[in-house]
Amino acid sequence: MKVLVLNCGSSSVKYTFFDMDGEKRLAFGIVECIGLPEAYYKHQVAGEEEVKEACKVSNHVEAVDIILQNLINRDHGIIQDIHEISAVGHRIVHGGEKFSKSVLITDEVMQDIKNCFVLAPLHNPHNYVGIEACVKLLPGVPEIAVFDTAFHQTIPQFAHLYALPYSLYQKYNIRKYGFHGTSHKYVAQRAAEFLGKPLEELKLITCHLGNGCSITAINKGVSVETSMGFTPLEGLVMGTRCGDIDPYILIHLQNIEKISLDDLNTLLNKKSGLLGISGLTSDMRTILKAMSSGSEKAKLAIDVYCYRVKKYIASYLGVLNGADAVIFTAGVGENSPTIRERCCQELSGLGISVDSALNSNIATNERQISEASSKVKVLVIPTNEELMIARESSRVLTNN
Ligand code: ADP
Repeated sequence: MKVLVLNCGSSSVKYTFFDMDGEKRLAFGIVECIGLPEAYYKHQVAGEEEVKEACKVSNHVEAVDIILQNLINRDHGIIQDIHEISAVGHRIVHGGEKFSKSVLITDEVMQDIKNCFVLAPLHNPHNYVGIEACVKLLPGVPEIAVFDTAFHQTIPQFAHLYALPYSLYQKYNIRKYGFHGTSHKYVAQRAAEFLGKPLEELKLITCHLGNGCSITAINKGVSVETSMGFTPLEGLVMGTRCGDIDPYILIHLQNIEKISLDDLNTLLNKKSGLLGISGLTSDMRTILKAMSSGSEKAKLAIDVYCYRVKKYIASYLGVLNGADAVIFTAGVGENSPTIRERCCQELSGLGISVDSALNSNIATNERQISEASSKVKVLVIPTNEELMIARESSRVLTNN
């Protein structure tokens, strides 16, 4: 079974094409800057050279068409005919309370995804047009929706409800949803394999530290708490997002600066986090370099970032009443020994001790970085959200 995985954003469509027989990644790429004169695509067949070209692309239908044309291209394609595509798996950011697992997309599901536009206005509409594009260009090919929120639907009400008037939950579904679910679920499954124990017997804390950052407490394979909330703004410090703040700050800023709602949104989502504190960049690699060169602001940004992660790890040890392992994943989590070490600093009282030598090994494999005596193991597990979406898609298809 060959599965095309699509991640449709506002101005880009990322794709990965899998042969699920052996879970082989056949090709991948991106169509970038949709609707802009500088639009281009990148396409790569695994193990071969990347093809990059400028293109004219004014909407998502045209973007998906470019992807399909690349897949069947005689020179740099990977299949003869688009009919070899058995299914399309879509990353859908928000499934609200309606979706606790991946589903085959029907007219009714499309309407339900539309109903969630109000919960994720920056993401779901683009995910939706990606589905429409495939309906048009690949008629009859099953499409599967894999939701970022679905894995967290198991979080109990006492953990997902905000202490606001209950009527706001009833009227507007205001509650914690959580995101990055596909990644947290994937690395939890991999961690169980790595530890050689059934997932159902493990308590895990998974730290997804990329541009967006979130942390999840997983008990017996089930998400019981996560740091992102009603939107992906809550929780950890991220590249440009602030994470947890006192909500009264917004009212205060409104009072003293008369800041508009649009500007507030930009402030919290685009100008805060690592970028906001350092005043330099949202990119962790650059911040780490700046810290090494003596930048006080870069050091401060990293201090705030790591302290927040540590605080969450410690609190999730409480949520789970201890844990078998803490797992680091995504761009920062997989690649930065400095950040991992600082996030786990002085947690030996709670059973977490990172081994400096193991931690500083630069590697891309799944590995343990805790001391042999550490009660809670610390692991690095590379995430693979695309493969997880492909797996979910083939599972849903087989079950249907
Ligand atoms: P996204 O959330 O967009 O998928 P990624 O998971 O790719 O992002 O993570 C991007 C972040 O990872 C950036 O801040 C980048 O600087 C950081 N990163 C990548 N490699 C390293 C590295 N070797 N050391 C530190 N940070 C890194």
